[in-house]
Amino acid sequence: MPTTHTHPLQQLLVDELRDLYHAEKQLTRALPKLVKKVASPELRDLLETHLDETEQQITRLETAFEKLGERPRGKHCDGMAGILEEGNALLQEDFDDAVLDAGIIAGAQRAEHYEIAAYGSVMAWAKALGHKDIAALLDQTLEEEKAADKKLSALAERSVNRQAVDGGNGSATTERSNGKQTAAAGRR
Ligand code: FE
Ligand code: ZN
Ligand code: FE
Repeated sequence: MPTTHTHPLQQLLVDELRDLYHAEKQLTRALPKLVKKVASPELRDLLETHLDETEQQITRLETAFEKLGERPRGKHCDGMAGILEEGNALLQEDFDDAVLDAGIIAGAQRAEHYEIAAYGSVMAWAKALGHKDIAALLDQTLEEEKAADKKLSALAERSVNRQAVDGGNGSATTERSNGKQTAAAGRR
C-alpha cells in the first residue's frame, strides 16, 4: 500500500525488490535439486557456494526493506520461475553426465544474467533516490552475481564443454555413420 508521500520511483524500487526477493527464494529451493544432478565436483562446489551467497543476498534484501520502512515480502517472479521451469525440463532429458552439466551451467547463467539485470536497475534507482546505503548493499549482491556468472563461464570453457564433446562422441559417431550408410545405400 503505497502512501502519498512515497516517491513513485521508490514504489517501483520496492516492487522490484519484492520480485528479486521471490526470485532469490526460488533459487534457494532449486539449487539443492540441481546440485544432486551435477557430475562435475567443481560445478557442484560452485553451485553450493552460490547457494550460500544466495542466502546472504536474501538477508541483504531484508535489510533493504527494513531501511525503506517496508515489510519484507516477495511478489511472484515469473522470470525466475520460467528459467527454473526450463532447467527442470532439461533434467528430464536423457543426456550424458557432461552434456547435462553443460546444460545446467547454461541454465544457471540464464538465472545469473536475469539477476544481474535486475540488481543493476534497483541499485541505480536506490542511488538516484539518495539511498546510498541500500545502493551499496545491492551493489555487493550485483558483484556476487557477476562473479558467479564468470566462474560458470570459466568452468564451461576450461573443462565441462570439452568433456561434453568427448563424452557425447559415442552417440554422435553412430548417428553420423548411420547417415553415411543411408546415403551410400541410396546411391546404389
Ligand atoms: Fe542471487
Ligand atoms: Zn522477476
Ligand atoms: Fe545468483
